Amino acid sequence: MKYISTRGQAPALNFEDVLLTGLAPDGGLYVPETLPTFSAEEIAAMAELDYPQLAQKIVAPFVADCIPADDLRAIIEDTYAEFRHTAVAPMVQLAHNQWVLELFHGPTLAFKDFALQLLGRLLDYVLERRHRKVVIMGATSGDTGSAAIEGCKRCSNIDIFILHPHQRVSEVQRRQMTTVVGDNIHNLAVQGNFDDCQAMVKACFADRSFLPEDRGLVAVNSINWARIMAQIVYYFYAAVALGAPARKVAFSVPTGNFGDIFAGYLAQRMGLPVERLIIATNRNDVLHRALTTATYSRQTLHHTLSPSMDISVSSNFERLLFDLYDRDGAAIADLMARFDAGAIHFSDTAMARAHSLFSSACVDDTQTCAQIAATWDECEYLLDPHSAIGVRAALESGVDAAVPVVTLATAHPAKFPDAVRSAGLTEEVGLPLHLRDLFERPERCEVLPNDLAAVRAFMADNLRD
Ligand SMILES: *Cc1c(COP(=O)(O)O)cnc(C)c1O
Repeated sequence: MKYISTRGQAPALNFEDVLLTGLAPDGGLYVPETLPTFSAEEIAAMAELDYPQLAQKIVAPFVADCIPADDLRAIIEDTYAEFRHTAVAPMVQLAHNQWVLELFHGPTLAFKDFALQLLGRLLDYVLERRHRKVVIMGATSGDTGSAAIEGCKRCSNIDIFILHPHQRVSEVQRRQMTTVVGDNIHNLAVQGNFDDCQAMVKACFADRSFLPEDRGLVAVNSINWARIMAQIVYYFYAAVALGAPARKVAFSVPTGNFGDIFAGYLAQRMGLPVERLIIATNRNDVLHRALTTATYSRQTLHHTLSPSMDISVSSNFERLLFDLYDRDGAAIADLMARFDAGAIHFSDTAMARAHSLFSSACVDDTQTCAQIAATWDECEYLLDPHSAIGVRAALESGVDAAVPVVTLATAHPAKFPDAVRSAGLTEEVGLPLHLRDLFERPERCEVLPNDLAAVRAFMADNLRD
């Protein structure tokens, strides 16, 4: 399988190389040149597979020329054995034809574990074979950092540096990063905001001369293709459990960077009968506005009760645009250049294509709290604020009542106790057993000034040989 850039000017790469890269050199994002597809019979047969078996089936065609089947099986089995629910991604019914797909049974209690647990193992496998070491660097406002650290903590060929804004992430989220033990793990609390952290990561990727020459720098944010790939699996898993391919299924996806829902789009292109994909956003509704007004422009960031969806631009949206514009790299390069300079307007054809599969909703903090309270009242089921936005959008979506709607529950409510309290619930939200002593564990974290040179110097000094 070859991977090509959405901007058409970068060389095609194989899976291994795409795994070890971030953005393409032309500024685009890598996507598969062609997609594998599954027939209705093949999809029907998936009902017999457990999660790791299904993951092998879906992932194999994307990595086939790089990873032998037996090795892939071992990597995937090891990855999902880390999850605390034996079904890995269980479903819960909230109402007639309303379901929740619980994606928070991984080590850090958010769906990002599905991809980052696999990514860490894939990286280690590839690096071991190539006798190479890399540095992972990322900025986080919450969930990505802990999931990346948990995913890579055992990797002997990776040093990992995660920047977060000092005193601006929640205590649970901070502790999930700073209590992980390992001499290859470095948490840097930068005395600035999230944008400052992200700008530093960008600058380090642009000029890597502070690192030894043979030490690659790998991105773990959602532009990394392997993350998207891993997320395709649970769309198949849920739909097949609800009767696909004989029955169509809709999905409501709490959305920030468009990585998770883009995986749902790929599942549909690979043959899964998906009735509709609902983009559920919080007040940071850049995508909802794009779909309803055909205008796409950066907007100022609002802080909400669902911080993992607080974004001003959705980086993975470019991957969808590439298809909406007939995979014309030059057109995308031109579009994105105009986007950087201000606002862009989509063509009627592109919009019609988008509307044939996607709809969208914007849910504010008040509505989020109301949904948490309502779902608790109706079925004593506690939603986290991100999942609550998904459920609200699902209920408002107007999807045919005969079609099951699956909301992706992207985080465990214990990660966001403030939102649960804001919803007026007095239930104690306990952390799952494996994290019960989180607040007693010692923390390790380096506070650094908001200064690129200081960050680079720290990294260079702390690389293992
Ligand atoms: C990252 C995250 C999202 C948004 O996912 P995208 O792939 O960025 O759209 C939603 N909910 C939670 C809990 C997250 O951690």
